[in-house]
Amino acid sequence: MDSYYNKEVSNCYFCQSDNFIEHSKATYWKIIELNFFECKNCGLIFANPMPSLDIIIKGNKALNVLHTSRGTFSQYKGGKEFTFVLKKICRKGTLLDVGCAEGLFLKGIEDFSEWKAEGIDVIESAVTFSNNRLGVKVYFGVLESMKNPDNTYDYIRMNNVIEHVQNPVSFIKKANSLLKNGGIVYISTPNGIQDGAVLKTANKQGTIINLLENHFFYYKPKTLKNILKSCGFRIIKSYCEDIKHSIKDFGLFPWIKIRDSNEKYSLNDYTEKENTDFQISDDEINNMKYDKSLNSKKLLFNLYFNRFFKIKIPSVIPIGHQQVAVAEKIKEVK
Ligand SMILES: [Zn+2]
Repeated sequence: MDSYYNKEVSNCYFCQSDNFIEHSKATYWKIIELNFFECKNCGLIFANPMPSLDIIIKGNKALNVLHTSRGTFSQYKGGKEFTFVLKKICRKGTLLDVGCAEGLFLKGIEDFSEWKAEGIDVIESAVTFSNNRLGVKVYFGVLESMKNPDNTYDYIRMNNVIEHVQNPVSFIKKANSLLKNGGIVYISTPNGIQDGAVLKTANKQGTIINLLENHFFYYKPKTLKNILKSCGFRIIKSYCEDIKHSIKDFGLFPWIKIRDSNEKYSLNDYTEKENTDFQISDDEINNMKYDKSLNSKKLLFNLYFNRFFKIKIPSVIPIGHQQVAVAEKIKEVK
């Protein structure tokens, strides 16, 4: 069992305090137990010991088999939608999408703007697909291993990535060095207060949740902002959204039980399987550009219409399943 974990840490990844309290328990793919602790000083919640990279890679592969439907065209459409945000910043620039998967989001950006869009991912088949089939530059590996020179990018996007990393501080510092001064980082991640509460409430009700995604760090909005500030960023905006789960997750209605929907999944059943489901022809790729649903006026109308109904809660009131932080690099931090 030892090789399933990294060495236990005795100091917090962020503030170095050794004052942790027990937070909750979970399992990862039914194969290992996870013990989450909360740093009393900075609020960071993390698994200790941390599962090893070896077991995470196996878990990710299994997840890839399980989640065979990937949003292909909707990712591409999302890329075009994102050009509205980018064009407000500058007519052209260079973007890095961390955890970009097959890169269709990036292709959408490059097809509909003058921005150069690059990505990085740890799934080798996704990286090969992006480079060879889409002609979008995607690097293989974790962000910290990236060899690109400092001050390369104007915008770094991290959509649901920071909860998966091995060390959030070295990760954000690397983003700082890759960004130009004044460059923007966009982070979205589960709201650690609420997502952590799910595990805690389930524990109280006698359930130990089986995690399939390697979410081993949970960030309270305040903690995330403090990490960004200490890594040379100024917060532009920070908010929470998606409030539909809240009350149940916090255990406010104790008769509503939190159920473990992943109970039946064990890593042992997935070690031999491969995902061969992701197939798209060159014609389909080339024709995406002409899809009627990409009409700019229609897209803009939908964006504003949806925004009107999507409540953004200032992150000082940390309810909502998801949180977003947007920050600007103001100084170099090593
Ligand atoms: Zn701490």
